[in-house]
Amino acid sequence: MKRRTFVTATAAAAISVGATARDSRAATAASSTEVSTDLAEQQRLLVLAHEARRNAYSKYSNFQVGAALLANDGTVITGCNVENASYGLTICAERTAVFKAVSMGYRPGDFRAIAVAASADGFSPCGACRQVLAEFGENINVIFEHKNQPVAKTVEELLPYRFKL
Ligand SMILES: [Zn+2]
Repeated sequence: MKRRTFVTATAAAAISVGATARDSRAATAASSTEVSTDLAEQQRLLVLAHEARRNAYSKYSNFQVGAALLANDGTVITGCNVENASYGLTICAERTAVFKAVSMGYRPGDFRAIAVAASADGFSPCGACRQVLAEFGENINVIFEHKNQPVAKTVEELLPYRFKL
């Protein structure tokens, strides 16, 4: 079914090269907590997040969310929210994308940005997703829309004093 084919061309290429993600890990981690994506990149990721949103399984809330996670090697891993009759088992689009990426071999420091798209303006990741993103990099740029314009904040900006072990 074409509608469910949401792996982007770059992601599809990366599926077969999981080892590449591991190899490029050390060299690409950013050290600044400032936003490092430009407007064109933010807009491109938002388009991919909106495309991923179409795959949301949201029969209980009817609230579709999509995410597009950009790895430092250029791969984009998408995700959508997946709901469940037992509401607490629902998973957000952002965590779907992160967990997919981890299953492909990516690790903390491998990610540059994540765009999140929903039908509601001003939507940004929930606290749980912010905590999960922080595990993989406080410098990840989190991109969402506010008044139809891209907004980019670092995870550090969205979740200061996060829980750490
Ligand atoms: Zn969330």
